[in-house]
Amino acid sequence: MKYIFVTGGVMSGLGKGVVASSTAKLLQLAGLEVSCIKIDPYLNYDAGTMNPVAHGEVFVTEDGGECDMDMGNYERFLNRNIPKSHNVTTAQVFSSVIEAERDGRYLGACVQIIPHVTDEIKRRIAAIGEGESLDVLVVECGGTVGDIESLPFLEALRQMGVAGPPEDRALFVHVTLAPSLEVVGEQKTKPTQHSVQELRRIGIQPDYLAVRCTAPLLDKTREKLAMFTGVRAQDVLSCHDAESIFEVPRMLYKQGIMDSMFRKFGMVGLVDSSERWDAWNDTVRPFAVRHSREARIAMVGKYVALTDSYVSVNHALRHAAADLGVSVSIDLVDSETVGEDPDLSGYDGILVPGGFGTRGAEGIIRVAEASRKRDVPYLGICFGFQLAAVAFARGALGIPDADTAEISPDSAHQVVHLLPDQDDHATGGSLRLGAHNIAVRPGTMAGRLYGRGVSRRHRHRYEINRSMMPELESGGLVFSADSDGGRRMEILEVPRCRFYMGVQFHPEFSSRPGFPEASYRAFVGAAAGMA
Ligand code: GLN
Repeated sequence: MKYIFVTGGVMSGLGKGVVASSTAKLLQLAGLEVSCIKIDPYLNYDAGTMNPVAHGEVFVTEDGGECDMDMGNYERFLNRNIPKSHNVTTAQVFSSVIEAERDGRYLGACVQIIPHVTDEIKRRIAAIGEGESLDVLVVECGGTVGDIESLPFLEALRQMGVAGPPEDRALFVHVTLAPSLEVVGEQKTKPTQHSVQELRRIGIQPDYLAVRCTAPLLDKTREKLAMFTGVRAQDVLSCHDAESIFEVPRMLYKQGIMDSMFRKFGMVGLVDSSERWDAWNDTVRPFAVRHSREARIAMVGKYVALTDSYVSVNHALRHAAADLGVSVSIDLVDSETVGEDPDLSGYDGILVPGGFGTRGAEGIIRVAEASRKRDVPYLGICFGFQLAAVAFARGALGIPDADTAEISPDSAHQVVHLLPDQDDHATGGSLRLGAHNIAVRPGTMAGRLYGRGVSRRHRHRYEINRSMMPELESGGLVFSADSDGGRRMEILEVPRCRFYMGVQFHPEFSSRPGFPEASYRAFVGAAAGMA
């Protein structure tokens, strides 16, 4: 078992997750069993309670974890499911330590950050590596070196790094930035120098620097960085801007990272990897080219202030487009600014992603209605599924007060409501999470996409009200999939439209480059006029 620890310096948002995922991908392409862990030093127990506009999307795992969005990068790069145990937070670690103390398991010791908290961190990381029989585990530490919250984690990683046998058991990759003030200006090294000094103060000497920069790192910048940081010049890696993040593994490979890592790890006897490389290159090639056919998609939601709020949705659209040989442009439209009669004329398709709460919901309902009436391809995810049903009840059935209980708990016509046994815990901790089996009705669009059944990830609280279904179906809406023996509706469609589908689940979490998710692929195809 070997470890690669990825830390970050200078500032957040440099793409530490992409460097961690790309390194893991290279090891996987070399034939090794590899997975990733994300450490999040914040005090939330998980990402579930965090505002997506501040922190980015909540990524849902198969086993129902509400996780940091970097977990999505790992899954997309490695094409492998990552369990929720791979997202470690301060709250989880401290909860275990406090519980052990209350149980008397520390036998009278004074409980301290070192060794008790650091031991718990190390225990969690080692348990994953050994429990999953991995060759290499890549551990990404969130935040930036110098943050108070990260200190216990960096100390634990430092201890793991020095505890190994003679050959290196752990390698440290530090991700930093070399800014240039003008487009072709000098690449500045001082921020990286300071950041590495901070890391060394904690006791960690990085083995590699992954340096974010706009243009490729110049030799003189590389040498200067090497001199100040004690990292060999050939291990100072340029991570310059690329057409797509899937270019980064090859970018790092070309700079010799694999040979260098294997040498440092003392690893030999690797199997031929050319076939795996060919497959990967074929998968990522369409992401870097412009296609003549284009689909202009409007993504209508309320978390538009940060593109990371819907990062998996963006990726899923791009996976589908790459597979179809289409270029996709995605406009974020604030659902709060949608007028009485939404103008969709500039768009080939409308996607409404998941969401919560009243703000912006009326705008979404109007957009769902306009898409149906004007036959603009529509894909509604979760909230976008529920509100499409509400729009149908209002527009096609003429029930003006039709609503979801989430917005109008007292409406007499609740198209979407809480199931009777959910009533007592309407807020907090009552979300239906993770993968559930879905039964699909043959002869429908869903049947064409998914066959007889499919398993998909969920994150929701409200459900279609089954007592309103006969009315909705008599108006021409089809519920084409359900789960839990028919208790919950999973897919709706309007057969007379070119493509009008709502799904209660989150197909974007199951989409991978080269393996687009069926509903996204059908939606992008319809938007591009291919269906
Ligand atoms: N707010 C809705 C619910 O709780 C939809 C959730 C979502 O879109 N993720 O059911």
